[in-house]
Parts: sequence; C-alpha cells; structure tokens
Amino acid sequence: MSYNTKEILKKYYGYKEFRKGQYKIISSILNKNDTFGIMPTGGGKSLCYQIPALIFEGMTIVISPLISLMKDQVDSLNNIGIKASFINSSLSALEVKKRITDALYGRYKLLYIAPERLESREFCETLRMINISLIAVDEAHCVSQWGHDFRPSYRNISAFIESLSERPTVAAFTATATEDVKKDVVRLLKLNNPNTYFTGFDRENLYFSVVKGVNKKDFLLNYLENNREKVGIIYAATRKEVDNTYEFLKRKGFKIGKYHAGLSEKERIENQEAFIYDDINIMIATNAFGMGIDKSNVRFVIHYNMPKNMESYYQEAGRAGRDGEKSECVLLFSPQDILLQKYLIEQTLFEYDRKINEYKKLQHMIDYCHTQKCLRKYILEYFGEKEIDENCSNCSNCCEEIEFSDITIEAQKIFSCILRVKQCYGATMIAEILRGSKNKKLLDLHFDELSTYGIIKNYTIKEIKDIINMLIADGFLYITEGQYPVIRMQEKAIKALKNREKIMMRIHKKKVATKSDNSLFDSLRKLRKAISEREKVPPYIIFSDSTLREMSKYYPTDMKSMLDIKGVGEVKFKKYGDEFIEVIKRYVSENDIELPHTDKNMNNGIIKNQEKIPSHEVTFNLYREGKSLKEISECRNLKIVTIQDHLIRCSVEGLDVNLDDFIPKKYEQLIYDTIKKIGAEKLKPIKEMLPDEVEYMAIKAAICKMKRIV
Ligand code: ADP
Repeated sequence: MSYNTKEILKKYYGYKEFRKGQYKIISSILNKNDTFGIMPTGGGKSLCYQIPALIFEGMTIVISPLISLMKDQVDSLNNIGIKASFINSSLSALEVKKRITDALYGRYKLLYIAPERLESREFCETLRMINISLIAVDEAHCVSQWGHDFRPSYRNISAFIESLSERPTVAAFTATATEDVKKDVVRLLKLNNPNTYFTGFDRENLYFSVVKGVNKKDFLLNYLENNREKVGIIYAATRKEVDNTYEFLKRKGFKIGKYHAGLSEKERIENQEAFIYDDINIMIATNAFGMGIDKSNVRFVIHYNMPKNMESYYQEAGRAGRDGEKSECVLLFSPQDILLQKYLIEQTLFEYDRKINEYKKLQHMIDYCHTQKCLRKYILEYFGEKEIDENCSNCSNCCEEIEFSDITIEAQKIFSCILRVKQCYGATMIAEILRGSKNKKLLDLHFDELSTYGIIKNYTIKEIKDIINMLIADGFLYITEGQYPVIRMQEKAIKALKNREKIMMRIHKKKVATKSDNSLFDSLRKLRKAISEREKVPPYIIFSDSTLREMSKYYPTDMKSMLDIKGVGEVKFKKYGDEFIEVIKRYVSENDIELPHTDKNMNNGIIKNQEKIPSHEVTFNLYREGKSLKEISECRNLKIVTIQDHLIRCSVEGLDVNLDDFIPKKYEQLIYDTIKKIGAEKLKPIKEMLPDEVEYMAIKAAICKMKRIV
C-alpha cells in the first residue's frame, strides 16, 4: 500500500504539520497495532483514526457516545471529501436501513455509531458482513466507572469485536488519564498489547487566570464589553445562578443563550443550535452543557463559580480554543463557592469513601484558586505530569502585574464595625453603616449611633463591599451559610487588629487590550455565516477561526496561496475558495494593500519555509533598525503607504511604533473629532470630511491610537 500521510493531511485537511503525537498514533494504527491515544481536548484525536480509515481498505467503525458530535464529525468529513455517515437514535428506521445498505455496498470509509447500537443483535449481524478494518473508540473513558461519564453500553464493545470473524485493529482515545481509567480502558476494551501514546495535557494556547475578591457581575460585564464579538461560555454552579445572570446580561444587550437541565429539551436544543451557528455568541450554562459541543472557535470560558474538582474544571475550560487560537479561561472565585460545593457533596453522596474522595478533590480545586505559583504548572502536576517549567508566561500568576495597596486603615474600620454589630449582619449593612447611610432599617436599629457610623466616607458602598470580599477571600473574614448569611471575623483578623498588622489589597493591573485589525477577519466571518446558512452546517465546519485569521494575515488571492493557508484542503478550496478570494481581493484593493505574493518573500505564491515571517513584521524589523519609511520602501520594493499600513498593523499587535509620525500635526485634532463624529467603521466617509492632503493612513493611524486609549 503506498501512501503519504502528510500528503493526505494537506490534501484533505489543509494542514501542513501533524500535531504532537498524531504521526506516531497514525503510524501505529497503520501498522495494525492496537493503539491507545491520550490527548487533551482539542489535541486533534479525530484525525488520528480518520487518516488510517482513509488509507485502509474496508470501513472504519467509530464508536462515539454523543449524538450531536457524530453529526458534526460526519458533516466535517463529507465537507472535505471523505465519505462518512452515522447511525443513531436520531434517525428514522427507514433512514437507518438506507445507511446500512450503503455501508454494505462499501459507500462509506467511516461509520459512526452510538455504543447502544451494539445491543441490537440484528445490527451486529449486519456489521459482520462488512469488511471492517479499524474500530475507533472515542471517549474511551466511558467504559470505566471511575471516569466521569460512565456509559454501560461501552462494556459491549469488546464482545462485539470478538464476534467478528477477523479481528480489526482497535484504537481507543480519551482525554482522561488517571491510572484507574487507563487500566480499565485496556482491560475492558480488551486492547491487544496496545501502543500507548500520551501527548501531555498542556494546552499552550489557553491563558488561565483566577480572579478573587471582585464583584462577579461587574467583572462579567466589563469582560464581555471588552470582548463583544467573541464567542464564549460562562459556567455557573446552579440553575438559579444561570437564570439570574442570563437575565442580567440579556438586559444589557448581549447576544446570549442559556442551558441547564431545568429547560425543556426543545429549549435546550434551540439554544445550543443558536450557539453552534453563531446566532448568539455567549452561552451561560450549568455543567450540563458542553459534552458533545465540538465548536472550535470558543475564545473564552469563564467559570462564574468554582467547580467541584480539577477534572471538571480542566474539561470545561478546555472547551476554549480547540482550533489552537489564543483563548482565555477565567475562574471567578469566592469563598461562598466552597460552601456550595460542600453542600452539594453532602446532598448527593451518601457513601463515606466517595464523600471523602470528593472532599479531597474539592480541596485541590480550592488550592488552585489560592496558589501563588504558575497555574499551568499546578494543573499539569495535578494530572501527573512531571518536570514542568516554573513559569509558563501564559497565566495570571505568571503574567499579571499585581500592585498592592495599603488598606490597613479601611480593614481595621471594617473589623471594628463587624464587632460593634456583634457579627450578626451581612456585607451590605456593614458597608452602609461605614458609609453613613440613612437607610430606614439602619436608623431603626440605631446603628447611626455607633462609633463606626460614617467613618469611611470616601468610598462608595460597592467599593467597601469589594474590600470586604477581598478580606473574605484572604481569610480574614468568612461568611456564614443559610438564607441570611452574615459576616464573621476569623482568627487572622483578630490577630491583625491586635498586632496592628499591615493589610494589603491586591490590585490586578489590567493588561492593555490590544485589538487586532480584524476588519477583513470580520468580513470573512460574515461570508462564512452566509455560507453556513446556505448549506445548513455550522460556521466552523466551513472554516475555523484560525483559518480565517491566516487569510486576513496573508491575503491569499489565488489558488496556490489559498491552498497554503492552514485549514484549506483541496475539496474546501473547490467549494468555497472563489467566494473567499473575492472578499479578500475587494479588501486589498479598497485598502490599497500591496499583495504579499508580489513581494520578494514569495515564490510562486507559496511562502518559502525559511521566510515565513509575515510581511508586516519584516517591515517592522527594518523600522526597528532605525530605517526611514523611504529607506524601508526602497529596500522592500513596496509603496510607502504599504509600509505605513504594515507599521500600523504592528502597532495594533502591540509593537512599539510611533504613530504620531503618520498623523499631520496640523490636522490632528480635526481628524480625531471627525472620527468621533462619524465612527471608526469606514474610512471613506471620514476621508471625505477632511482636507485632501490627509491620507488614509493618517486616519488609520489615528483610529488605531484612539482604540488604544479606549
Ligand atoms: P479532540 O477530538 O482531540 O478534542 P479534534 O480532533 O476535534 O480534537 O481537533 C481539534 C481541532 O484541531 C479541530 O479543529 C482540528 O481540525 C484541528 N487540528 C487537528 N489536527 C491538526 C493539525 N495537525 N494542524 C492543525 N489543526 C489541527
């Protein structure tokens, strides 16, 4: 059999390189060894069995637990020209029959089935008539009751395999790697001396952060305002929290949907579809949401509450960034979350051993929220990885600058007030007393006669409550359980009062949000959405965000350069290439951009390997050497406006470019005023309002500066 797996990767999937582990796993399967692949979510497991399926004669059966995922995978495969189908309970009996016939006639390379199908003798008999070369078991941890999604029908798989006249190669995949589960997978699926590959759990593109002592609603609002167009999931611990926060965000005008087990099936399906098809960009949900959501362009996952253990956290957070693009995972911690999780353990578990086990896991989760060390290192060590760098430079503990502000005086006043009201009131009352509020209840209780009444006047009620939250998070105070929670002092606060200890409050210095020039990206997204509606498949099945981002970086305007983009294979090019090229060409001409493939860096439209640096960065390197625009223009054989355009892009990406040089001093204020009046969306109407000598690039530079300030 002659094949070149890399060629297949390029031709069908449009990717140039295998990701970590993929090549080895594929080779092992192609050598007909049973294979066990352990890769994190988004690591690229599907391709590991799809490529062998394509190469092997006969058909591959993929056993997958999730109906929604099957349809997605099959749509994706058909979309890149690989014949595949699925059989599950969502189909009518007639449709099932038709698909079985097609399978018997060898019309599919891959057939996805739910494990429950194997309970039907008739179905198994039919499969025995088919030449099955490979059985791929997805989410193999479902076979183990130690895993988090035990699925009894997975236990039928090995008997089915044994019943086949010729045993096919078996490949199992999971993202869970605890020892018990690993052993169970090998034992219960009866893998035959399998080659096991563990690629490590790190998800390099994910930024992890823990945020404590903040008003969570304010944080959400602020975060979502700053990330308006991005796709994200917010996880909350209870249905009630989901409902409340959903209403709150909906009122604020966000395109948001909700999902939890209390909704009808119809509502859940509708909301999920709206999210998958990009009709809404935010989903707020309990942990019931997400299994089987293969949406690759999720840019953030926010945990509104701390989850019950690290396994759940990493699985849920891991739904961000499956396409490999930079994404964020934020955990909003408050001590009340601990109480809730303990309550849930008490209410749902009755066996002593399991309870103890869950408490232990919960403690690891709490420790994650409090650790000062690298969050990534903490996670990976928890999952048993060793020799991890001390500093990942990609989590809040490694990256955020923390400023400390001395709040000793404020804290002492708060403690004192809590003691004066005999530790019997909640945060709002404490803050109102300190602020000197004229609230009726407060006056009725004569709290205006306390010595602490009105002694923190220069803070708002909310700011005082924020400090109280911080003092709770840092273990000076705690909040009681029950319907009317009250604030109490911890030992630590009493000591601090006695010893006049200094108390510092952490202030996370916000990272300046550098927005990328995504106007072309937005146009490409719009096109993708239109095609998705036309073809009735989710947008990310057409192209992933990272593919669109590459297009907006390299401006491919012909077949060769388009095929060079990650994620554009031959079939997809034939289907969609022209439409995307048209949008890119329009953008290039409207913005007077010199095409990179007329640049010396390009050879027949394909960027030479050693010169993969994006064109604008090549320009920046010359700029950094101190060359003038004119010199760079000559050196690169590009127009000065193109050089300016490159440098503006670099500035947007956070590189140090002095944009003032592009904006004529004389008209600076006028340019800003005009942009404010007309808005920064389109350049042409702004240009028309300004004197002729103001160039497009001056306007672009001004917009860029304004955005930075915002
Ligand atoms: P998993 O099943 O492990 O969670 P998937 O198989 O769904 O992950 O892959 C996640 C994403 O990564 C998909 O969008 C897929 O197309 C992409 N991907 C897989 N392999 C590669 C590769 N070699 N290069 C670039 N992207 C890849």
